[in-house]
Amino acid sequence: MTVTRDAVLEKLKGIPAPAGGELVSSGALSDVAIRDGAVALSITIRPDQAAAYEPVRRRAEGAILSIPGVTRATVALTAEAAAGAPRAGGHSHGPGGHSHGPAPAAQAGPAPKMGLPGVGAIIAVASGKGGVGKSTTAVNLALGLAAAGQRVGILDADIYGPSIPKLLGLKGRPELIAGKVLRPLVGHGLKAMSIGFLIEEETPMVWRGPMVVGALRQMLNEVDWGGLDVLVVDMPPGTGDVQLSLAQQVPIAGAVIVSTPQDLALADARKGLAMFRKVDVPILGIIENMSYFLCPHCGERSEIFGHGGARSEAARLGVPFLGEIPLALSIREHSDDGRPIVVHEPDGAYAGAYKAIAQSVLAALAGGSGRRAPPRIVIE
Ligand code: ADP
Repeated sequence: MTVTRDAVLEKLKGIPAPAGGELVSSGALSDVAIRDGAVALSITIRPDQAAAYEPVRRRAEGAILSIPGVTRATVALTAEAAAGAPRAGGHSHGPGGHSHGPAPAAQAGPAPKMGLPGVGAIIAVASGKGGVGKSTTAVNLALGLAAAGQRVGILDADIYGPSIPKLLGLKGRPELIAGKVLRPLVGHGLKAMSIGFLIEEETPMVWRGPMVVGALRQMLNEVDWGGLDVLVVDMPPGTGDVQLSLAQQVPIAGAVIVSTPQDLALADARKGLAMFRKVDVPILGIIENMSYFLCPHCGERSEIFGHGGARSEAARLGVPFLGEIPLALSIREHSDDGRPIVVHEPDGAYAGAYKAIAQSVLAALAGGSGRRAPPRIVIE
């Protein structure tokens, strides 16, 4: 059965707005987004109205769900970013923490992008090029977020070179629930999904662009991600179809860029920044990986790649610097054997560095710092 916008608005009639009058005529509703049986819309409020509107939000979701043919209803409360920043850990309110600004009249605002049901904030971990340690950082950052009490999932969007199964030491196939959605595997407490669970490692795969985008869509929408505060997406390296398609498909609360200190990697990282800005994804900040080498024998610190480039670059570009991770043998060894350093040595210095970055990411999400007006940047 096809669900229509009129049917949705009809169902919402009779729900009172806390400020008086009816919700549908209050001017606070965005347009209604309908995709298959999934319906999403947002209610624009002032941040101090959140508690009063929460029952309204729930009632609206319930009303929409009662329409024949509706399989999913997402009603989000949104507020101006400066006054009411999103919180990691918020659930369906404010999908991914995006704010849409006040809508002057019903249906005046843009339709909200569909969040994933039961998922708070979606963050993308990206790099301008391969081999900078993006996946290692994504996994340890996810574990750092989990150590901070968040419920975390990780989606391996690197369709061409999935590495999450190995990094989390996970093998096996995800189970199909009710013939519809895949149950993610769980590694070290993280819900995880990767194309690596679905195809044989040795299978030579030739992916064409649309197939890659389709695979990503399935891993986002046809996986039971529910009950997460944060979904970390390990992006493929570079700036291509997958990045754009992710930004188009779901609201991304922010992007974290991983870079090594070398200039070349930074030039690539700049491209990544520019791409996220073009698709209106806030930049949470830059992480400098393989920042310096700490000799495991004598403890001497060597700045092999000319440490500090990412910090000064972040300042120049006006984005937060989230922290630095040293080049360390134990980070590599434990990545390779499926026990990331944050779980292998949770009280060690390296785990501490990832956990500190996780705190900065949470602060950036809560403070909405990634949503500041972007400075103009020039790509050389
Ligand atoms: P990417 O996802 O950018 O391609 P990976 O996360 O797969 O990069 O890392 C590439 C290699 O570098 C892996 O062997 C990984 O173990 C290693 N590595 C990543 N970060 C560090 C680090 N901070 N110290 C030592 N080795 C690292």
